[in-house]
Amino acid sequence: MRYLSADIIYPLNRTPIIEGVLVIDSGVIVDLLDSRDGIENLELFEGFLCPGFVNTHCHLELSHMLDKLPKQSGLPQFISQVSKQREESSVIIQEAINVADKQMQDNGIVAVGDISNTTDTFALKSLSPIYYHTFIELFAINSAKAEKVFQKGLSIQNKCQTPSSIVPHATYSVSNHLFEKIKQHNSGEIVCLHNQETKTEDTLFLHGSGALYNHLKEFGELNVSGMSALKTVLPKMPQVPTLLVHNTYTSQADVEWAESQYENLFWCTCPKANLYIEDRLPNYKNFKGATMTIGTDSLASNHTLSIWEEVQTILNNTNLDLNTILTWACKNGADFLQLKDLGSFEKGKKPGVNLIHKNKVQRLE
Ligand SMILES: [Zn+2]
Repeated sequence: MRYLSADIIYPLNRTPIIEGVLVIDSGVIVDLLDSRDGIENLELFEGFLCPGFVNTHCHLELSHMLDKLPKQSGLPQFISQVSKQREESSVIIQEAINVADKQMQDNGIVAVGDISNTTDTFALKSLSPIYYHTFIELFAINSAKAEKVFQKGLSIQNKCQTPSSIVPHATYSVSNHLFEKIKQHNSGEIVCLHNQETKTEDTLFLHGSGALYNHLKEFGELNVSGMSALKTVLPKMPQVPTLLVHNTYTSQADVEWAESQYENLFWCTCPKANLYIEDRLPNYKNFKGATMTIGTDSLASNHTLSIWEEVQTILNNTNLDLNTILTWACKNGADFLQLKDLGSFEKGKKPGVNLIHKNKVQRLE
């Protein structure tokens, strides 16, 4: 039995406790005490304790692209660069995946929602102490390619040893035919979708114009609908717990509409990647009442895979309090990934214990 205490404990299922004690046995939360009085064998730390972090959006297989892509070039440019950089030797790709997984462990991350377009990460994920849910991501705006792309997705999924789902890449990169196939195939698994990451994403759907439209129009039919990207695409998604990723340009009206029409929506913010690619953050005030989670995105668009650094970026750019942002970083992510043991210091859970002191993360359990 360990008795862990720090300046503040953030349990996340209740209000923070100053100078409380976390009682833990083989990683399982046994009790949470409001006072240190009368406790022997107390382990006392400077800083604060919080549960293990949940990274709801990563692309581990892009880890070898660290420092390879130009910053603040905008999304269309970024996407074409990513496809060029995919051609790398498998030794280099595998080494980078291993280093990135280890970095996430060291940064106190206990679970990850990870995007895969290939099988490159599957061996590592099945061995890592981190819990991985793999989102096998499909894209093709040419509907003639839908069947082939879908079959390829199924064969990738067959090789995946972690829990997995087949998901569409983004609002603008999937034909109606492929959306339909993904919806038909889903039997209740959680899904995700890159949403409103660039300003011209809405312009594409609303007006059939703009940089993203011009970049994509030669590849297939685009769904110009006179509505926002989110309003156009959300009805095409399976009705299951859904993570909308980025939402950098999502309006308050869109959030309110989505929340009124759909249950089980989770909104993932990747602030450091947004600053890297688009040099802009979402307006967090637009997401009042929505369930927020945090992702690192990939090392193609970030220098580190650290949820704590993402938390600090949000803290430094908003008036939100630490308890709220930690709830996004731990509890809400665990809720989305349906991991009942993780996300808070509730009795009986085994969520991991992070000590944060002087902006450094140390894993205590
Ligand atoms: Zn992404």
